[in-house]
Amino acid sequence: MSGQPLVIANWKMNGNRQLVSEMAEALREQQQLTADVNVVVCPPTILLPALADACYYDAVAVGAQDVSQHAEGAFTGETSVNMLREAAVEYVLVGHSERRQMHHETDAVVADKLQAVTSSGLKAVLCVGENAEQRESEQTFAVIKQQLQQALSGLTATQLSHTIVAYEPVWAIGTGLTASPQQAEQVHQFIRQLLTELNTNVGEQMQILYGGSVKADNAEQLFAQPSIDGGLIGGASLKPDAFIAICQAA
Ligand code: PGA
Repeated sequence: MSGQPLVIANWKMNGNRQLVSEMAEALREQQQLTADVNVVVCPPTILLPALADACYYDAVAVGAQDVSQHAEGAFTGETSVNMLREAAVEYVLVGHSERRQMHHETDAVVADKLQAVTSSGLKAVLCVGENAEQRESEQTFAVIKQQLQQALSGLTATQLSHTIVAYEPVWAIGTGLTASPQQAEQVHQFIRQLLTELNTNVGEQMQILYGGSVKADNAEQLFAQPSIDGGLIGGASLKPDAFIAICQAA
């Protein structure tokens, strides 16, 4: 495990102001937990200010699910890094598989977003992972290598130190199918090796999270793996009790 465990809630396009209050209140009662585990909540963009207000005095960080690679201008519907900073955001998910699939984000776009986030001092959570077909045809390692290299090769050591990697096998996201702890550990070790080849010092320290149908009842086994530093949690992060149980497992 590199550093303090990190557990990130990704609400996707779910939740409302009520969930923001419920989550903030539930986490406030867990002061020891939020001291021991770095907890981040990524609500939809429109709820970022409400979450930042609700967690202002708490050890809970605010994260965004996406960002524009552009600094400003005629990009209807987009949100810039500076706008996120103003909203007290500290973490930004980049290259989530739903963005890659449904919004056609290429590795080049993901690399640009990673540049924008890490050069501003915010922390980027780079999501990588193979789909079912790629796993079945034994391309998992090649896919991960390509995604990581394209995204990370243009970053300075300082930018890399602001980067976290989330391994999220696409076939495990929202499907209820979780990678077994052994499957996840194997890919995490491979990612660690690639990261250290890229930059020895930073690569050894970089946190690598697992995501894909993490639930309260499988989190402990996954987080017990030596190369898994925490989790990126989708569906199970929409219920404060379940999310807290997952944070406790870390
Ligand atoms: P899931 O989503 O936990 O619902 O599988 C994880 C993610 O997409 O980050």
